[in-house]
Amino acid sequence: MTVPAAMLPLDEALQRMLAGLEALPAEEVPLEEAVGRVLAEPVEAAVTMPPWDNSAMDGFAVHAADIAAAAPEHPVTLRVSGEVAAGQAPVGRVVSGTAMRVLTGAMLPPGADAVVPVEETDAAPGVTELPATVAVLAASAPGQHVRRAGSDIVAGQPLLRAGTRIRPATVALLASAGHARVVVHRRPRAAILSTGDELAPPGEPLGPGQIHDSNGLMLVALARQAGAEARRLAPAGDTLDAVLDRLSDARAWADLVIASGGVSVGARDVVRLAFEAIGRVDLWRVAVQPGKPLAFGHVDGVLLFGLPGNPVSSYVTFQLFARPVLHALEGQADPTRRRILRARLAEPVTKAADRRAFLRVSLARDPAAPDGWLARLAGGQGSHVLSALAGADGLAVVLEGQPGLPAGAEVDVWLTDREEA
Ligand code: AMP
Ligand code: MG
Repeated sequence: MTVPAAMLPLDEALQRMLAGLEALPAEEVPLEEAVGRVLAEPVEAAVTMPPWDNSAMDGFAVHAADIAAAAPEHPVTLRVSGEVAAGQAPVGRVVSGTAMRVLTGAMLPPGADAVVPVEETDAAPGVTELPATVAVLAASAPGQHVRRAGSDIVAGQPLLRAGTRIRPATVALLASAGHARVVVHRRPRAAILSTGDELAPPGEPLGPGQIHDSNGLMLVALARQAGAEARRLAPAGDTLDAVLDRLSDARAWADLVIASGGVSVGARDVVRLAFEAIGRVDLWRVAVQPGKPLAFGHVDGVLLFGLPGNPVSSYVTFQLFARPVLHALEGQADPTRRRILRARLAEPVTKAADRRAFLRVSLARDPAAPDGWLARLAGGQGSHVLSALAGADGLAVVLEGQPGLPAGAEVDVWLTDREEA
């Protein structure tokens, strides 16, 4: 293995990781467990929605022509011949000069071509006895307040593409279209490995030189947020044997291992050595800030990620690389898609000119532009400053080729914590 002296552009590193990745196999799940999963097959509508013309309002189904001249000062009186509630089949038809009371979602009775809302009649709103007649106070056009059969979806039409991430609204669409089960890709299984002799478990008192392992739980949470099943391996000290031992535990279960720490070129950076000992590994210096050498490789179909140990670098490199890789394994059509908001910088920022920077910022409404946002540094930008990361609303992107930006400059902010899987 060689360590290239030049830094690899971010997009090229990502492209190399995604090249040739295949989505995990498909499985069928009940709709109630499908949110956050990715469709493995296209889905067609099994039923037409609405299945029949129906009323969009509580009111009266009429012939629009009968009430073409209706107005508050000259109402048109119609005989009320019956009622249709939601869930009922209409009895009889609406002939000229008559109306049927209808409730929202009720089938439009045959003969009627429009619905007059109850507010545009003399009828009392609410549950009342069916009146013998109704005075209509406003004109209506054919089709008014009628929801046409098939105006949402038509049976047999393509509904969703393979690769679509299922969200709450997608679940509703699938249920509405007649589906109770869907075929989705299996969730990726991510084994999370913290490395470092200095690490103590969260909550334990710290000895000299020790810090708490913060990456482990963070990477579990990030992997789950990205749609994976995640398990934490027992943290490993800085020995090759310890890391090899954890990797052999992980290989029976995991689709990918996400290790943090020990990935540089120092004497104790054993993660890279362990990856190399068992599989094929590339180590890159990627032109990102925060960013350090990053290892990516595989062994027998298990992907291996070695993220830098500094917690903010771990977080950012997970977002940049591990998240799209997880999404590709889940079969998501566009695995690099993310939520972005445009904002103006509230203050000048500086960065390394040759790298793309991901600054931890918090967002507030811009008093000078009511539909705009202002991004302000959420705290210190050192790669160990978790307080700024935890306080941030997102990552402001400042492109390579510039040493910073002035206040007022527009930037993309990645809303990393607002993202669904
Ligand atoms: P390394 O990449 O192993 O050289 O670690 C870089 C920095 O990140 C060092 O200050 C480590 O103590 C710190 N670090 C490494 N792993 C973790 C972890 N799991 N939790 C918190 N800090 C870590
Ligand atoms: Mg270390």
